[in-house]
Amino acid sequence: MKDTYRHQGLRQQLVNVLISKGIKDQNVLKAIGNIPRHLFMDSSFLDHAYQDKAFPIAADQTISQPYTVAFQSELLQIKRGDKILEIGTGSGYQTAVLCELGARVYSIERQNELFKITSRFLPKLGYRAKKLIFGDGYIGLEEEAPFDGIIVTAGAPFVPKPLLKQLKVGGRLVIPVGDDVQIMTMFTRKGPKEFEQEEFGEFRFVPLLEDKN
Ligand code: SAH
Repeated sequence: MKDTYRHQGLRQQLVNVLISKGIKDQNVLKAIGNIPRHLFMDSSFLDHAYQDKAFPIAADQTISQPYTVAFQSELLQIKRGDKILEIGTGSGYQTAVLCELGARVYSIERQNELFKITSRFLPKLGYRAKKLIFGDGYIGLEEEAPFDGIIVTAGAPFVPKPLLKQLKVGGRLVIPVGDDVQIMTMFTRKGPKEFEQEEFGEFRFVPLLEDKN
């Protein structure tokens, strides 16, 4: 679990790449500059950790591309203390970014293997989510709703209704929607029944699957 000057240097280069790709939010850039992404991947992948690429993790899943993590985090416009629900804990990297941004994080993962690995790993790095849940993100987390923001980190074939329902008025749902390719979509709750919908181009994610595994 080492984080050396070399890692920090590579991380700063990654931050510069994200700036050149259009990420502006200083808090998001700072979070990515702080988090030792190489520790979220198998150690043999060390050289890949600070490239702007997605990478395989356990259970046939991927750690999202840093640009995608930054892009989704920027859209959420998190303020310290915000209550945020993440669907797809995976490696926990996005969870760590949300923690660095000062959010109170609830995160759901449907793969038991990943849920167990990440639940043990995140606290070791000092990242304490409010709750990590083994469950099905399609139904959200009714008992903790409403949320200031909800982020889905897997490709959703459609927008799950419970996630819209569990947003505060003023809250944002950031979700990639589509089958093979996804359109990054943001819903802002304007009132009890009013949502504004905006689209932000194409991304590729592993699929949001139903039920637990
Ligand atoms: N945020 C993660 C991205 C992991 S990839 C990271 O930074 O590493 C997407 C994750 O979503 C996978 O771990 C996958 O198992 C999970 N997933 C897919 N469908 C899900 C569902 N219905 N509920 C919860 N998690 C789901």
